[in-house]
Amino acid sequence: MKPSALVTGASRGIGRAVAQALAQEGWPVCVNYLERQDEADSLVRELQAQGGLAMACRADVSDRRAVEAMVQAAADTLGPVELLVNNAGIAQYGLFQDITDAEWNRILAVNLTGPRNAVQAVLPHMIREKRGGIISISSIWGLRGASCEAAYAATKAALIGLTRSLALELAPSGIRVNCVAPGCIETDMVRVLSADTQAMLVNETPLGRFGTPADIANTVVFLASEKAGFITGQVLTADGGFVV
Ligand code: NAP
Repeated sequence: MKPSALVTGASRGIGRAVAQALAQEGWPVCVNYLERQDEADSLVRELQAQGGLAMACRADVSDRRAVEAMVQAAADTLGPVELLVNNAGIAQYGLFQDITDAEWNRILAVNLTGPRNAVQAVLPHMIREKRGGIISISSIWGLRGASCEAAYAATKAALIGLTRSLALELAPSGIRVNCVAPGCIETDMVRVLSADTQAMLVNETPLGRFGTPADIANTVVFLASEKAGFITGQVLTADGGFVV
């Protein structure tokens, strides 16, 4: 069986584009989702119609048992997972003082414990085979901080620390671990912002536009490829020049 790729949160937005791009590169792809089964199923049909191997799998990434079951299902159906893209994430806007325990715990559970769960689930095979790739989607807010998105920015900064640490720990096993830090990308996560905020963010982006999900997918494809074979522990920023 060929190895497969698991993309968390692939029903919409950046994850969907990543799954499409990896399938184009020939990867069998497990399309993880939480609520939008319709979107995940339509993506799987699209990838299969193009001759690819794909399956949809519902799992809340914060649920360790569900993630382990998903990794096993992907291995059984598509092939062992040798590329993990930790993309599933949620944002939360508001003053730091107003964040409730429930909100704080949920954002950490999805954005940080989720990647932990997924990495731990895929590692046994990768370590045994001494190959594999792990790419996590952080954010420019994890690099520079963001007013009214403190919890989100904290999780995204933590992902960078996790990436660098795992890169060092897993390099002897031939596993590369990298991170992408997108700027403002046109997805549902950004569409919830007011028109004024969106205009301000475009204005602050030197290239003068929001990024597309495909812009990030192309970055992930590069990091996953042999062309990036000597790259590990890095944060590749794709943000139109927002953080320079
Ligand atoms: P999005 O459009 O809101 O899509 C989020 C995806 O994550 C959906 O597929 C959703 O599944 C899934 N998801 C949410 N919670 C989940 C959970 N607990 N378990 C499994 N899947 C879950 O988000 P996006 O803008 O594409 O963002 C993708 C990633 O990029 C996130 O990590 C985000 O923080 C990061 N990012 C985004 C931007 C941006 O400007 N958009 C910038 C920097 C970084 P359902 O559809 O089933 O609900």
